[in-house]
Amino acid sequence: MINVKKLSHQFVLGKRGNQTTLPILQDISFHVNKGEIVTVVGKSGSGKSTLLNLISGFIRPTQGEIWIADQQVSQFSEAEFADFRLQHMGFVFQNFQLIPSMTAFQNIELPLTLKGEPEEKRKTIVMDLLDRVGLLAYKDHYPSELSGGQQQRVSIARALVLNPPLILADEPTGSLDSETEADLLELITQLNEELNLTFLIITHDDEVAKIGHRTIQIQDGKLLEGSNIQ
Ligand code: ADP
Ligand code: MG
Repeated sequence: MINVKKLSHQFVLGKRGNQTTLPILQDISFHVNKGEIVTVVGKSGSGKSTLLNLISGFIRPTQGEIWIADQQVSQFSEAEFADFRLQHMGFVFQNFQLIPSMTAFQNIELPLTLKGEPEEKRKTIVMDLLDRVGLLAYKDHYPSELSGGQQQRVSIARALVLNPPLILADEPTGSLDSETEADLLELITQLNEELNLTFLIITHDDEVAKIGHRTIQIQDGKLLEGSNIQ
């Protein structure tokens, strides 16, 4: 599903003529198989979010290749990447990123509306997802009327709404208490098993790391494979 080959990234800081480079990732190679949950751990500032932003195409690597679904995405133009993201990737963020003026139903529905799907089809898909994440009774609630765990369930449903094979998550339980976190991890495991969804999950939390079939660790810009590698 994902194949990262000899990926390096450095940020360039300062103005022209007085620039310094900040190396973040060096020579990173790993793969994620279809249907796998892979967790990425590392200290704060180790470059985990940078790695996810590279895979998502929000920033471009200094060196190396990123292949997703057998396409070399690191060569895509902005427009090609935007299109590719819509078809292949769903995103889950630490702070949920829901639209406050829209209900749970409307937040999940939005990508379908933007895609121009007819109302009847939108409703069927959204109701099925609300059911899947256990929020049917909350469909008309606004984000401010939902707990953190419920908001994250809405954002997971939204990530799934265009049926992407791959979900990328950056600290998905970072804003949740440990009990809510456990429920959410169970949901992720269930979605992985039932829908054969592939997950790449960034975390600095051991409980989250454990749900990975494999864990990879970033340390000093390099990648170490964890002990549960198969
Ligand atoms: P993590 O997610 O593991 O906490 P990040 O990938 O967010 O780490 O950041 C890694 C390092 O890269 C940090 O030192 C951070 O300050 C730096 N960094 C992140 N984004 C930028 C940027 N756009 N420009 C310059 N430095 C950045
Ligand atoms: Mg981060």
